[in-house]
Amino acid sequence: MSEQDFIAEEKVKLLQEHRQLDSELGHLREFMQAEVDVEPDEGDSEVFEREKNSALIAVLERRLVDIDNALRSIEKGDYGKCQRCGKTIEHERLEVKPDATMCLTCQQEIERLGRRNRPQRQIEW
Ligand SMILES: [Zn+2]
Repeated sequence: MSEQDFIAEEKVKLLQEHRQLDSELGHLREFMQAEVDVEPDEGDSEVFEREKNSALIAVLERRLVDIDNALRSIEKGDYGKCQRCGKTIEHERLEVKPDATMCLTCQQEIERLGRRNRPQRQIEW
């Protein structure tokens, strides 16, 4: 598959997921705004439901931001290119993490450097 075809396919998928997330978030937010009218006995499970929902909303919102970023870079024409070395980012990687801006090699290198640069703990004698 050519890079262009891959990006075109990704774009369709991202737009689809975007729509799904949007409507799912809409439902969840509606639920959260709904009047809470529960018997004292049911209070706990209601609170639990709401906590679960707000956690889910946070996850979905993050995913939506990732997708927005990915769609924006598709528009700009730099989607799927590594910011660091300019190589094509692995397609499998983009499918899992659509807003990836670095190839796996660079990502691992950055993480390794990050670990090395972290202040060493002093040895206490
Ligand atoms: Zn790279």
